[in-house]
Amino acid sequence: MANLNCSVCGRTVYPTVHFRDHYVVDYYSEVTGDTELVVIAGSEHDRQERSYLKLTTVREIVRCAGCMKGAAG
Ligand SMILES: [Zn+2]
Repeated sequence: MANLNCSVCGRTVYPTVHFRDHYVVDYYSEVTGDTELVVIAGSEHDRQERSYLKLTTVREIVRCAGCMKGAAG
């Protein structure tokens, strides 16, 4: 199986390890990408127009626990 690496610092990351009374998270997976605005016209029963951003291309960002801590601080 190929190593999974942090998109920020490049270090190899490992799945979350569970213990009896705690767990250790080594990385977080985030999804981002390009979006397009989709508008849904109102209907006879609900005249309100609604819009949302549709994800058209998906990019996964893997961030190790250390880089995630840096991003939060
Ligand atoms: Zn990192």
